[in-house]
Amino acid sequence: LVQLSMPLNFMGMIYREIKQALIDIDDMFTILHRNPEIADRPDAPALAIGTAEVRFEDVRFAYNPDRPILRGISFAVPPGRTVAIVGPSGAGKSTLSRLLFRFYEPQGGRILVGGQDIAAVRQDSLRAAIGMVPQDTVLFNDTIGYNIRYGRWDASEAEVREAARLAQIDRFIASLPEGYDTPVGERGLKLSGGEKQRVAIARTILKAPPILVLDEATSALDSFTEAQIQDALDRVARGRTTLVIAHRLSTVVNADEILVLDHGVIVERGGHAELLAAGGVYAGLWNRQREADAARAALKRAEAEA
Ligand code: ATP
Repeated sequence: LVQLSMPLNFMGMIYREIKQALIDIDDMFTILHRNPEIADRPDAPALAIGTAEVRFEDVRFAYNPDRPILRGISFAVPPGRTVAIVGPSGAGKSTLSRLLFRFYEPQGGRILVGGQDIAAVRQDSLRAAIGMVPQDTVLFNDTIGYNIRYGRWDASEAEVREAARLAQIDRFIASLPEGYDTPVGERGLKLSGGEKQRVAIARTILKAPPILVLDEATSALDSFTEAQIQDALDRVARGRTTLVIAHRLSTVVNADEILVLDHGVIVERGGHAELLAAGGVYAGLWNRQREADAARAALKRAEAEA
């Protein structure tokens, strides 16, 4: 019996360790992008979040030395405010969020959170302070309830339901035969892009981080789903320091400041109305997207009539 229970105990221990590792790691985004080359300094302190300000100071970055992606980026998101980053595909928008999470380190300049250089604090403490709603949410092969609770394991049943309600996914869950106990993911129910994103929003609402990064989906959602997601994102962003990586311009209209990134530099910055009136890059992007949206709508109408 002793011989048998030893390996079983051992396996139990490994199982618990793996599970704990998953809990300790902030979320799937971290698991996917974790970069083993970035190590904490031996005595690095934890990030002390006082004011949740995010500041980029002359940040320079290249994945490969011969191809600079960011060439001196400076901006600040004041506590509780929203800054949106827009720009052509490949401009480096998502790279900014990867640097903020310290999956890569800038080759020049620095990034400060609450006045502290993120290169000098522990990565786990940095990532605990930031919530991420990624473009593509990865769901665990577990129940939908588990996938939401992943935001904070000690959340009560009522808190999980409230987060689902705020994220506008509660009615969808109620329509499932097994409700919150419905298995999802590769081996369960496959959720649509919009549903997965709302699960990610519910998770983030539970986590309640002082800083948020919203990396908008590139895929075109139907306008009803888009409006629902926008509403859920607005609620989660309220009162939090928020950086929106915008792939569609409709979501940036209410941002406190919009930064237009092009060829590694910020070429324009300001509010929506101001940038439209300026008739520059932003106005061009906006008009092109309006035309694309109109063309898509016309195509849909034609398909419906055919
Ligand atoms: P999109 O709107 O299309 O998502 P983006 O502005 O978010 O684009 P990034 O994902 O930041 O763009 O990428 C910026 C540039 O860096 C792109 O040219 C991309 O090919 C390149 N790039 C991204 N990740 C890597 C990587 N891991 N290694 C090398 N190059 C990369």
